[in-house]
Amino acid sequence: MTHPSYDTENIFAKILRKEIPCKKLSECPHTLTFYDINPQAPIHILVIPKGSYLDMDDFSKSASIEEQAAFVAAIGTAAELSGAHKKGYRLISNIGGFGHQEVPHLHVHILGGEPIGPMRMR
Ligand code: AMP
Repeated sequence: MTHPSYDTENIFAKILRKEIPCKKLSECPHTLTFYDINPQAPIHILVIPKGSYLDMDDFSKSASIEEQAAFVAAIGTAAELSGAHKKGYRLISNIGGFGHQEVPHLHVHILGGEPIGPMRMR
């Protein structure tokens, strides 16, 4: 069941419906990966499920095992295709208000291509 807070007009839902373009890196029946429009590192990829999931909290509770396995595999594929895997990278998934999530459709950021720095600035 789609989370009651899921907004079907969010920007990633529009990308999935092909209403707006994206710079695609890879795709499978359950996932899409594409370049972030405002990169925070030389390599900045977003990995999203094709299903309507709000965030990782929603996805982990509601997605099928097949969708969850495909999502993890898509992260590995995107890291390899982008070259991020060569020297290491960071995965980030922001969730809700405290997590500073801006787009309310589950996404994992892959950041790489240079040292990404400490986990958190204080
Ligand atoms: P978050 O703060 O984790 O929700 O991150 C949302 C990310 O989506 C940001 O890094 C944005 O730059 C990125 N973003 C927003 N719109 C687009 C778009 N149309 N294509 C690619 N990335 C986008």
